[in-house]
Amino acid sequence: MSKAARETWGDPTTAAFWEAAREHRLVLQRCADCGHWQFYPRPFCLECGSSALSWKEASGRGRVYSSSETHMAPSPDIETPYVVAVVELDEGPKLMTNIVNGRCRIGDRVRVRWREREEGPPIPDFEPDPEG
Ligand SMILES: [Zn+2]
Repeated sequence: MSKAARETWGDPTTAAFWEAAREHRLVLQRCADCGHWQFYPRPFCLECGSSALSWKEASGRGRVYSSSETHMAPSPDIETPYVVAVVELDEGPKLMTNIVNGRCRIGDRVRVRWREREEGPPIPDFEPDPEG
């Protein structure tokens, strides 16, 4: 793991996210004062400014909000085509991710799956949700 990567994952604001990711749990910040869910993590609630945030496990389910299929690889080790998407989680926050294991249209239901990496914690991808 590179020094820069260690520093990113050691960031106190995001550390809990990556710790949960290692256990394949998708967690989001939730405000104890107003109930707002947010991602990506921040030191305060975007809705009411409170710093009473805690980490709660999300359902891992949502809908495709937007997507784009890419046919030109930014580096030779990346297979094309691949799909970059914004997924709107059932809890509300939107997450930039990849869609894998099938095709999705905007509005389709998706669920999280975890992509293992050698260089760091697994990252959340999404796939079509067979339960719809
Ligand atoms: Zn709040």
